Amino acid sequence: MRKRLVVLTGAGISAESGIRTFRDMGGLWEEYDVMEVASIEGWQKNPQLVLEFYNQRRRQLKSAKPNAAHLAIANAENDFDIYVITQNVDNLHERAGSSKVMHLHGELTKARPVNNPNNIIDIGYNDIKWGDNIDGYQLRPHVVWFGEDVPMLTEAAKIVQTAEIFAVVGTSLNVYPAAGLLDYAPKGCPIYLIDPNDVNVWRNDVTFIKDKASVGVPAMLKMIKDETP
Ligand code: NAD
Repeated sequence: MRKRLVVLTGAGISAESGIRTFRDMGGLWEEYDVMEVASIEGWQKNPQLVLEFYNQRRRQLKSAKPNAAHLAIANAENDFDIYVITQNVDNLHERAGSSKVMHLHGELTKARPVNNPNNIIDIGYNDIKWGDNIDGYQLRPHVVWFGEDVPMLTEAAKIVQTAEIFAVVGTSLNVYPAAGLLDYAPKGCPIYLIDPNDVNVWRNDVTFIKDKASVGVPAMLKMIKDETP
């Protein structure tokens, strides 16, 4: 039986694919103030700016490629039963070949009308323009903004509770409620944290691999494979 490995990823895992994190930029996300472009208040204030910001992110994603960390996680499905829970809105885990990926904060390649969070449509890498609508309701990116609920959270917590090994990659653990998922890892389940910078982690049963994802993830996978009978 393959062991269940749950991997929680954040913006840091995609940094080496050329998609920048925002905490590393002092609160700016690709030159934009995060609260202007990734909050419900920002959307209410200037929806055209928000649409343009996500259109740019989608175009950038089209030319980005999965890096060694995404690929190592996908390839390790031969050895482990892997569930990826990602805070990222990019699709690099899927493009690397991971088969079970949950997006806690939505997906860049999807949109929905403002009146119905469940009417999610695939838009690929196309722009959303002001005026694009379904039944008269403006389309918006299918992403979770600051100030909005995270509908997948309960489901994600249940998955973390099934972990036999838990790994956290490239997340500052500053963005709640996603960061709280760490508390759902069962007692006795080995926990690994991979990040090149110091992370404020409150559990004392965590093995910290202080390295960038492209190096730290393959190293961690080798470590757990060697330890698994
Ligand atoms: P964050 O920006 O708060 O933290 C990023 C973490 O990645 C930091 O701890 C940093 O030290 C680490 N990091 C930087 N380079 C790394 C590397 N090469 N390898 C491993 N780690 C590295 O990110 P977050 O906690 O994920 O929160 C930001 C939120 O913004 C996310 O929830 C997401 O919704 C959104 N976001 C998404 C993307 C994306 O989809 N790629 C990019 C930026 C922001």
